[in-house]
Amino acid sequence: MGILEETKGLIEVSVDELGLPKAVYQHLKEPQRLLIANIPITMDNGEVQSFTAFRSQHCNVLGPFKGGIRYHPEVCMDEVKALSMWMSLKCAVVQVPYGGGKGGIICDAKNMSEDEIERLSRGFVRSMLKIIGPEQDIPAPDVYTNPQVMAWMADEYSMAKGHNAWGIVTGKPLIVGGSLGRLEATSRGCFFVINEACSKLGLSLKGLRVAVQGFGNVGSYAAQLLENAGAKIVGVSDSSGGIANEAGLSVDKLMDCKAKTGSVSEYANGDKISNEQLLTMDCDVLTPAALENQITGDNASDIKAKIVAEAANGPTNAEADKILTDKGVLVCPDILANAGGVVVSYFEWVQDIESFYWSEEQVNTRLKIKMTDAFTRVYDFSQRKQVPMRKAAYMLAVQRMGEAMQMRGWVKKAK
Ligand code: GLU
Repeated sequence: MGILEETKGLIEVSVDELGLPKAVYQHLKEPQRLLIANIPITMDNGEVQSFTAFRSQHCNVLGPFKGGIRYHPEVCMDEVKALSMWMSLKCAVVQVPYGGGKGGIICDAKNMSEDEIERLSRGFVRSMLKIIGPEQDIPAPDVYTNPQVMAWMADEYSMAKGHNAWGIVTGKPLIVGGSLGRLEATSRGCFFVINEACSKLGLSLKGLRVAVQGFGNVGSYAAQLLENAGAKIVGVSDSSGGIANEAGLSVDKLMDCKAKTGSVSEYANGDKISNEQLLTMDCDVLTPAALENQITGDNASDIKAKIVAEAANGPTNAEADKILTDKGVLVCPDILANAGGVVVSYFEWVQDIESFYWSEEQVNTRLKIKMTDAFTRVYDFSQRKQVPMRKAAYMLAVQRMGEAMQMRGWVKKAK
């Protein structure tokens, strides 16, 4: 079963177990709107190449659609649909007034020039002009997109509208309406979740052995925050491979190595390992911070971590989830553990609307409150109902969306 079917399955079970009207599931099982666009771009060599783009607007019962846009050669419609569903659930879990959306462009961004990426990003905005907007649908960075891409998108939209509209995208550079703390927000949110999870298991951050899969926007800053708090980063990896050292790796040096050589696996002070070995290495906390479907039925039983904190979206499939839960691993699900990004996106959007900007301390303090409150709600629910953390998070999110649907009259109220 693919990620989309698995996600729908979990939503359906949640609707049933919560006693919500079946119609809630009918609303949630497909996106409200799905746009597929063909974007022809003149490449640097003068030839025109066409790119396929998707935007899935899943459910806006709680607020405008919100979610990133990824540039990846393997992105497909089902993936974007599933990612948009997770955004709806994520926003509901952390209680920010958004619905879920997600976009993707099939492209090999790593091998495109900056100018080509700019033309493609502007083309994306033009093709989506009718369905995006600060009150309608607000994109943000995701895999292989970054603040610069957001600046081009904000500019293209603003030019089309004839006025600056910073609230059209989040994750922008500071100078064009970005927020302090947004760049590290997903990592910081995940760090707060790991903190809370550790305290439930009686683990201290001092000397905590952490393995991080993925060393991009999310994995690298998560490793840095953990290291600064006294944890030992015993293994990291990226798409080219990984590196391990029981005595701990220096995150600053890893960042340097990645910048210079393109991969953490070139780091001298450790043993080369594969991505697969990283997942099953001896550690207290495993943080998958790369792509979907990394922890599966094939490797879940070999995982040694006591806590899995899903900084990536969808890293664990359903079969693996069951194996981990049965083994007593505390799985902090993606829709909770990586919600820090969208929480600070929400803060950025609020600042843009008010044209009144917060200090980094205000951003981080408010993020901490949001993340720890959400963790506590999910953890307490999972204890009370004796369900795993993922199911608890889904049920709390679906409950919120279901209630709003009943209030708005989208579905008949349950008797
Ligand atoms: N792409 C991030 C995510 O998957 C952030 C989305 C946003 O900030 O809107 O949560």
